[in-house]
Amino acid sequence: MSTSRPGSVTRCGHVAVIGRPNVGKSTLVNRIIGQKISITSRKPQTTRYQVLGIANTANAQVIFADTPGWQARPRTQLDKLMNRQIDAAIAGMDAVMMVVDARSWKPEDDAIAEQLLAAPCPRFLALNKIDQIKDKSALLPLLAELGAKLPDVEIVPISALKGSGVEHLVEAIAAKLPEGDRLYPDDQITNRSERFLAAELIREQIMRQLGDELPYAVNVVITKFEDRPERTHIEAEIWVEKSGQKAIVIGRGGARLKEIGTSARIALERMLDRPVFLGTQVRQQEGWTDDPRVLTRIERDSL
Ligand code: GDP
Ligand code: MG
Repeated sequence: MSTSRPGSVTRCGHVAVIGRPNVGKSTLVNRIIGQKISITSRKPQTTRYQVLGIANTANAQVIFADTPGWQARPRTQLDKLMNRQIDAAIAGMDAVMMVVDARSWKPEDDAIAEQLLAAPCPRFLALNKIDQIKDKSALLPLLAELGAKLPDVEIVPISALKGSGVEHLVEAIAAKLPEGDRLYPDDQITNRSERFLAAELIREQIMRQLGDELPYAVNVVITKFEDRPERTHIEAEIWVEKSGQKAIVIGRGGARLKEIGTSARIALERMLDRPVFLGTQVRQQEGWTDDPRVLTRIERDSL
């Protein structure tokens, strides 16, 4: 049975979101969904897990799969886990959307565009960050150049940050999806649990507040997540690899950890729409990025 309005068909499908780090993939998915489900920062490799963002239009359900940044030279088992997830993201998709920064096309974009052109399904290019292009007439030659370079790719200029062009992009993708009923209830916006999203929001604050002193080898484990009458009670462990990193996260007199905790709590309250207690603890766990047992747990917990 179709749930569509009389005289129209329902379309539904999965869309892989690909692109080099920092072009705005997660910002775009958050914008489309209207809520933060994928964390963002200026640092590459912020997105570590595949998160689905489910968008509903009048006649379609468009399921976006935000992907972690591709690692050209995987160093650790964690890198390999990330690469497996991006491979899986492209396979079996109903459409592929590549996101680029309209201000700069880099050699890495060429490599990713090859994957886009090879995809056996409708292809889209989101030309992002156009809010940063002061002279909009400069977009026309860029669009012509990209159109010639990427035949059979629908190019849509957007600003994920400001929202311009985003609705048009979603409609254009929806129109090319296969016919079929919605796969998720239309009030569900993601496949991830609140517990998973909570860990990600805390990790986002760590990524944002610590400079380049800290590598991306930080993991957040939620050890308690309880809805109590007054507030949601959350306790989290922050895993680092080295004792020096532990000192950095904690900061002088605990100041850094306090700052991370406060801003993460505010973000959690916004997501859950109720007061939150957040307790944090930093734990040193030598070599966790190469420990298969830990990675299995991360993969399982991230569902
Ligand atoms: P990802 O690595 O591709 O997922 O990129 P993110 O979504 O994490 O975004 C990287 C950075 O680009 C963040 O600082 C975003 O705020 C910024 N950004 C994303 N989209 C836009 C946009 O449309 N305009 C501007 N000016 N900045 C953007
Ligand atoms: Mg991202």
